[in-house]
Amino acid sequence: MEKDRRLIIAGNWKMNKTVAEALDLVKGLKRNLIQVKELDIVVCPPFTALSEVSREIIDSNIRLGAQNMSEQSVGACTGEIAAEFLKEFLVRYVILGHSERRQHQEESNALIARKVAAAHAASLKPIVCVGETLEDREDGKTEAVVEGQLTGSLSGISTGQAKETIIAYEPVWAIGTGKTATSEQAQDVHAFIRSKLESLYDAAVAKQTRIQYGGSVKPVNARELMSQPDIDGALVGGASLDVRSFSDIVNNSIWPPNIMLSLVIGFLTFILVVICAILMVLILVQLPKKDAGAGLAFGGGTAEAIFGAGASTPLAQITKYCAGIFLALALALSALNAYRSNLGDRLLKQEAARQAAKTPTTPATEPAPTEPPTVTPSGTEPETGETGASAEANQPEGEAAETPPKPTPATKPNPNNWFS
Ligand code: PEP
Repeated sequence: MEKDRRLIIAGNWKMNKTVAEALDLVKGLKRNLIQVKELDIVVCPPFTALSEVSREIIDSNIRLGAQNMSEQSVGACTGEIAAEFLKEFLVRYVILGHSERRQHQEESNALIARKVAAAHAASLKPIVCVGETLEDREDGKTEAVVEGQLTGSLSGISTGQAKETIIAYEPVWAIGTGKTATSEQAQDVHAFIRSKLESLYDAAVAKQTRIQYGGSVKPVNARELMSQPDIDGALVGGASLDVRSFSDIVNNSIWPPNIMLSLVIGFLTFILVVICAILMVLILVQLPKKDAGAGLAFGGGTAEAIFGAGASTPLAQITKYCAGIFLALALALSALNAYRSNLGDRLLKQEAARQAAKTPTTPATEPAPTEPPTVTPSGTEPETGETGASAEANQPEGEAAETPPKPTPATKPNPNNWFS
């Protein structure tokens, strides 16, 4: 289904992946997803892997997210990470109010709202999680719980900021359990959240805000979930830890054109296999005949083993047509696959050329600070990631307004900044 809102698929790696493992994962994702322009892809590694992952994806179509941050900007907050520190690694998104933090760190809606405000003040896009427990659902309290979390977590957030906030509906009973909400259950809650956004803000916020679904999203259920009118992406936990499954979730969420091409190829391959099986049976049926040979199966004697030569019996006629269809299908499939891999090669070459063109401008001994983050006044943030026009592979559409700050000549060395 075509949507006005651009889909966003984010991987929450939680407390998984050493730096080396994180790099392996993100390199695999880059390789598999280089051609994806249709949606936003975000990875949220643990803090310890942010710097290396950021370097790896700096010129790719994959964006960086963090899993949490402090509501404070600086100071005596042992063990906390401020938004500005995340920005040093070109983090763009931050997951806030995940159910695991609400549950284990007892994060309240009020605290989450302060974090959401701090994220916006630093021009980070918060991904605000809401969702009911199984008990809530069984007690018929799903909407009341979700409404309370939504209202509380967005308290004090302006209309402009709300449009730049991503909501993740994550039913707690579906997280890490293998139980996915049915697409109808998820759609119902997403529609409810959208209606609440309208009453909290206005119709434009409701229309533009992206609402992700999270909870055991897998390659097999991604397409069905994403086809729902109010589901604008996924927040993926377990399945984001594997190159293949996260790539498949991303690819299965795109509709059209890649899926269409894959469906056509899949369908033609299926027909080809069926025709091939029929051909083999037909040939075997005709082999015991006198003067048997492959040529007989195609309508002629052994010396006339050319498709269709002298075909006379009905069986030989059928075999001849099957052989023709087989050849035509094989040619069509080769052409389609060549088109697909040629497209992939072209994009890979473009990416390689971009990487090669990237030459270090500052000596390693002279660290250069990133530009200071632009703090956008609340309510006036540029609208991004909302439309469906095409974009460069390394610049997902809708993100032009949030181009990462480029390393600048060192005027004041910042020892914390590794972009040098
Ligand atoms: C999550 O923790 O945000 C999540 C959705 O996890 P999983 O996909 O493993 O259910």
